[in-house]
Amino acid sequence: SKSWTMVKHFEGLPKLEDFKLEEKELPPLKDGELLLESVFLSVDPYMRPYSKRIMKPGDVMIGSQVARVVESKNPAFEVGTYHVTNVGWTTHFISDGAGVHSLPKEWPENLPRSLAVGAAGMPGCTAYFGLLEICNPKEGEVVLVNCAAGAVGSLVGQIAKIKGCKVVGSAGSDDKVTYLKEIGFDEAFNYKTVSSLEEALKNASPEGYDCYFENVGGNYADVALQQMKQFGRISVCGAISLYNDSVPATGPYIQTYMLFKQLRMEGFLVTRWMQRYPEAQKHLLKWIAEGKLKYHEHVTNGFENMPAGFIGMLTGENIGKAVIKV
Ligand code: NDP
Repeated sequence: SKSWTMVKHFEGLPKLEDFKLEEKELPPLKDGELLLESVFLSVDPYMRPYSKRIMKPGDVMIGSQVARVVESKNPAFEVGTYHVTNVGWTTHFISDGAGVHSLPKEWPENLPRSLAVGAAGMPGCTAYFGLLEICNPKEGEVVLVNCAAGAVGSLVGQIAKIKGCKVVGSAGSDDKVTYLKEIGFDEAFNYKTVSSLEEALKNASPEGYDCYFENVGGNYADVALQQMKQFGRISVCGAISLYNDSVPATGPYIQTYMLFKQLRMEGFLVTRWMQRYPEAQKHLLKWIAEGKLKYHEHVTNGFENMPAGFIGMLTGENIGKAVIKV
């Protein structure tokens, strides 16, 4: 079995030399155990802030995967079946079946199984619950989402369209902006090249925003909050612009906007709705089958390229979900 470990805590943007590939022999299976092989591994922004919170140098990098059973001494798991697990950046591993989640029953034959860690997995559930439960968008309202061409953001915008909203998205390249228009965003702009974020937000929706699905934080949020309508709702999903900071950033204080616009802002971790994932997955898979929800994946080939795939996602190389194909 091969695993990627974290050599030392990251400083700023993670670097290739912060990771080490290690190899070990796995013991024979005992009764009740199964051997799984990772097929697709997920690289996600949370790995950067969580590495600091829950990992120590030398630990295997955290993360989830779609894995196939290659050997089984557990009658509940047949050889050849696929499951989602959360055992980190590892090619092969032994399990007793705990934390091994089968793909949803209604999984269509023609869908790539990688979607189980993408549009129909954790990022899909994040978009679904984070938007619908916290922003609660109504037909005709205006929704703003940043990191809009990413795994979560691209789904947030499309779910908001399904709910009858006007959708504005921002992303970091012109190709991403083109992609956003293709998948039905009403307005999209490249936040890196606009001369003023404030002007770009005003042009995209002169009346302001009812809902703001926040993935970026920092300066972006300071500007976007000023464009909210009265009684606007803000779902704080992520703050990727702050994840690589060694010293916590300080900025303008938001309380006056919150007060005079009577805004509601709530942060969430998608695991809050873990028991309800099947409900979201049912809707996501149905919308995908109906063509109402388009997905895109940015696939990095080869387990050996996993650190590069992770760094590439953090620097914006991906359109849609970044995954590693072993
Ligand atoms: P993405 O697929 O969106 O990939 C990350 C993207 O972030 C990059 O492609 C890049 O796009 C953008 N980015 C990187 N640095 C910056 C920056 N300084 N400012 C603005 N954008 C930047 O990742 P996900 O869809 O998986 O995650 C999106 C957000 O959702 C993250 O903040 C993540 O932490 C959060 N999240 C939260 C969850 C929760 O439970 N609360 C669960 C899952 C995700 P670009 O080219 O546009 O800059």
